[in-house]
Amino acid sequence: MGNIWVHAETTDGIVSSITLELLAKARELGEVTVFHAGADAEQAAGELGEHGATRILTTGDLDNGLPGPALAAAVAAKATEESPLAILFGTTYGGRDVAGRLSVKMDAPVITNIVDLLDSDGLTGVEPVFGGTTNVKTKFTGETPGIFLIRPKSFTAESAGGSAAAVETLTIPDLGATGSARVTNRFVEESDGPKLDEAGIVVSGGRGLGEAENFQMIEDLAGKLGGAAGASRAIVDAGWVPYSYQVGQTGKVVKPDVYIAAGISGATQHMVGMKGSKTIIAINKDPEAPIFSIADLGIVGDVHKVLPALLEAIGD
Ligand SMILES: Cc1cc2nc3c(=O)[nH]c(=O)nc-3n(C[C@H](O)[C@H](O)[C@H](O)COP(=O)(O)OP(=O)(O)OC[C@H]3O[C@@H](n4cnc5c(N)ncnc54)[C@H](O)[C@@H]3O)c2cc1C
Repeated sequence: MGNIWVHAETTDGIVSSITLELLAKARELGEVTVFHAGADAEQAAGELGEHGATRILTTGDLDNGLPGPALAAAVAAKATEESPLAILFGTTYGGRDVAGRLSVKMDAPVITNIVDLLDSDGLTGVEPVFGGTTNVKTKFTGETPGIFLIRPKSFTAESAGGSAAAVETLTIPDLGATGSARVTNRFVEESDGPKLDEAGIVVSGGRGLGEAENFQMIEDLAGKLGGAAGASRAIVDAGWVPYSYQVGQTGKVVKPDVYIAAGISGATQHMVGMKGSKTIIAINKDPEAPIFSIADLGIVGDVHKVLPALLEAIGD
């Protein structure tokens, strides 16, 4: 169909899960080139190629310079030369940074919050609105490449068995004042278990837990099951847990094998972030709670009784 460019995010040569998800879709749509900032393109070339990328355009080592401005400026110049059909980004901090800068540099519009891409007489983005109750389809009509920002977990990452992608170094234009900015320190958030958006089991708590201290039961259950703890926005807003725990429309999208929702009502904004889970188990004292409409297993009961009983039954 055309050339599809994908923003590749890597850490020490390991490709992020969202990048692999985007590649799974991109290779269905056309020939795939990825673009990348940093010194680890050669290390990542095997995995990127295996997932369908034939070429990596990289800035190379940026000597602790900011990746966003350098990558956006270099990709804008290259994309103007080669005119790809579309440029795909994951909805991540890095993806949003580069997409915004690229949009300005190329005077190209961006469609955000995309959950699917359809190849129907040009590339069409599918975007859920009104809390995921309906979808809007949007297509670019202009000459410039369409920039799509895609939500995590929209596609399933799968190897295509391709050979290593060819690495090509981009020319970085003069970046002006931003070129002299340097990253002086990095902070990696410590966590014991799997990441919320990558865990096979997610245990989430909501306002039905009653008070912040009771969230420990959620952490304990997640820990015992080898999963990650999540939360509804109500308890994030109440300050019980950090925003990084939030599942839903304005939080993380999760698709684990098992999702346990304890004391969560099931507002559409929450469900849009977890309804793709394979098995959903809900614990709620109200038999009419909307969460039961999508639950595979529903426990009508008090979380203060059900969770301790579950913890005890699982044991150490
Ligand atoms: C623009 C927008 C974006 C939003 N984004 C998100 C989002 O990303 N994620 C999100 O989660 N929300 C989001 N929300 C908020 C959402 O609408 C709900 O307000 C929120 O999800 C409710 O959280 P909750 O289910 O924990 O609380 P509640 O709705 O108050 O539900 C608590 C539930 O606990 C049950 N309960 C109470 N006591 C017990 C007990 N002892 N044992 C068992 N059950 C009990 C109750 O029956 C009830 O069903 C958003 C809202 C808006 C407007």
